[in-house]
Amino acid sequence: MIIYPWQENIWRQLVLQPRGQPNALLLKGRSGIGKLDFARVLSQYLLCEDRLPSAPCGKCQGCLWFVNGTHPDFRLLEPTAFSEQEQETDVGEKTRPAEKKTGNQITVEQIRYLDDFTNLTSHRNGYKIILIHPAEAMNKHAANAILKTLEEPPGNTLFILVSHKPQRLLPTIISRCRSMAMPVPDREAALKWLELQKVNEPDIALAQSGYAPLSALEIGIRETQEQRKEFLQQISVAKLNPLLLAESALQYPLSDIINWLQKWICDLIYCKFTYKVRYHLDFTEQLQKLSRSADALGLVRYYRELLAAQRAVQHPLNTRLVLEQLAFSYCRWVLDTEG
Ligand SMILES: [Zn+2]
Repeated sequence: MIIYPWQENIWRQLVLQPRGQPNALLLKGRSGIGKLDFARVLSQYLLCEDRLPSAPCGKCQGCLWFVNGTHPDFRLLEPTAFSEQEQETDVGEKTRPAEKKTGNQITVEQIRYLDDFTNLTSHRNGYKIILIHPAEAMNKHAANAILKTLEEPPGNTLFILVSHKPQRLLPTIISRCRSMAMPVPDREAALKWLELQKVNEPDIALAQSGYAPLSALEIGIRETQEQRKEFLQQISVAKLNPLLLAESALQYPLSDIINWLQKWICDLIYCKFTYKVRYHLDFTEQLQKLSRSADALGLVRYYRELLAAQRAVQHPLNTRLVLEQLAFSYCRWVLDTEG
């Protein structure tokens, strides 16, 4: 595992010119830019027993344990049902697969479970590292419990908090951490990296992800691009049959459709005022055409409807009904036709 090219500067700052290691580090920044991977490499580096000047060796006992997920001086704290498929749409709220409510949280029991770990000395006479991801998933009790530990940090223990939404953390937690804003690559650097990962149409995947390269990679890998194109092709027309649209949309996951539509509406709104497209770059012409006739207020109304549909996406009573409703509303608010 290595850090991403856009993280090289911050890596140097942390590793090559350490201002004395803090007890707690907060790595903050938007989703999909590689914060967690960075935190993992940093952990491995600190636990490595034969460090190279700026990287873990990859061969020592510490590195081998770390890579196998069995290092006795490392703990990763995540919500129990935290799912890697969680996506930030970047245009609205999160879409999550069905989960139990507390499964989204890091609980006080998980923090208490760490007590033995923090109180005992390390197994390898080096650091003990606790990586919390995402830190804002700690519920109130968990946050208060971790705060106590941060107030009197046990020796040689390093907390690494990774957060997409640091504004949700307790200010008292933030003030006890050394905060680092994690870099977002510029467009050129992100495209270059995506090309190296052999992502098809990297510019489109990158725009789709809201310019977060790891999310773009996921979009590229999921190979939903063809489905997205098929679907958008159908809604690019000036007049459509909502029942037929809903029928054909049944073949795609509902959460994908809502995600595509949200970006589509954002593009239409953006296009209406700037004549530019942000997400569906490959549909620029169609979006420009549609945006001329679309009513701004109608677009906002439809966007609100999509947000409501997104909240219900985990428990759709009847997917067909949801799709029909969305298709009828699309005709009404976006195309200004009765279908
Ligand atoms: Zn090593």
